[in-house]
Amino acid sequence: MLIVMQRPQRGKTEEETRRTIEVTSARLCAVQEFLCREGFGSHCSEGAELVVVGLVGKVEPERAETLEARLRAIDGVKTVIRVSTPYKLVARSSFKPTTTIPINGVNVGGQQLLVIAGPCAAESMQQLEATAAAVKRLGAHALRAGAYKPRTSPYTFQGVEDLALPWFREIHARHQLPIVSEVVDGNHVRVMEHDVQVLQIGMRNMQNYPLLDTVARSRRPILLKRNQAATLDEFLLAAERIARFNPNIILCLRGTCPMQGQVGRFRADIDDIPVLHDLTHLPVIWDPSHPAGDRQRVIPLALAGIAAGADGLLVEVHPDPSQALSDANQQLTFEQFGVLMAAARRVAESVGRTV
Ligand code: PEP
Ligand code: MN
Repeated sequence: MLIVMQRPQRGKTEEETRRTIEVTSARLCAVQEFLCREGFGSHCSEGAELVVVGLVGKVEPERAETLEARLRAIDGVKTVIRVSTPYKLVARSSFKPTTTIPINGVNVGGQQLLVIAGPCAAESMQQLEATAAAVKRLGAHALRAGAYKPRTSPYTFQGVEDLALPWFREIHARHQLPIVSEVVDGNHVRVMEHDVQVLQIGMRNMQNYPLLDTVARSRRPILLKRNQAATLDEFLLAAERIARFNPNIILCLRGTCPMQGQVGRFRADIDDIPVLHDLTHLPVIWDPSHPAGDRQRVIPLALAGIAAGADGLLVEVHPDPSQALSDANQQLTFEQFGVLMAAARRVAESVGRTV
């Protein structure tokens, strides 16, 4: 950690200058004494305008945030810079090459993009069968479908729950498409991992730590969605929790809290795709469906995500979106999904990737 302090300005009179020097050195002492009390050493270097105090010692990740806040509260501290990150296993710096996770012939995080497509919710065997056949024909690598749906309203469709598991088994066997489905309860993990090849943690459960600790013990890859209000530190610390036992984590951005008066459902956080690539070696995919909230806006948002460096897409597609039991407005028709795939190939090529 680096603590940056302002150097004193020269005063108008000698007396003023002497006073500012005294105040500054008292503030510098306050920082050094604070660090000493907290068990750290310090190293001070003085530039023309700034004085930088380097914290010497190891800051445990769980202490970093409080320590930073307390340092910022000391008079004269201009800013505090964290040189090392609170997450270690998932940090780009701790493991330079990008993690790649093999899913149905695609090394997610490598040159080829992973496309996961399918309905918001599994509704029937027929619906899954039609969708699997169509999205596979159009180039998707995996089928998404929620069995358990954590809906905001308790009065809306909550998913067919474990009824979907035999459907998943049959679809996987027939189409050789890995199934991506959300797990909402740690007690479901053992059963779900038989028929679900990628376990999704939805945005509402990104901070459900017992659930993260349980999926971390699964050998299935984990698709971890960012909570709508989570900072990137919080998101990466959730990934870190899983990474202690299971390194196969795919991060997924899906939009953050909407701005007041905005038309879309969530604020598209595609600007965080390149930032995440700087911070972590884990692959980052993009869900354009939930921020769009409307199928007319899904394709442009999907393409923007690819241009911004996403390692794949998670897209909602339904045989008859108007009849969908959840997220009817944002699911693409098969035809629209075909249009998206053709455009995705062109945009991917322009950024040196393939689909
Ligand atoms: C989903 O992908 O089905 C879903 C519920 O998304 P989120 O958790 O991002 O809201
Ligand atoms: Mn949905």
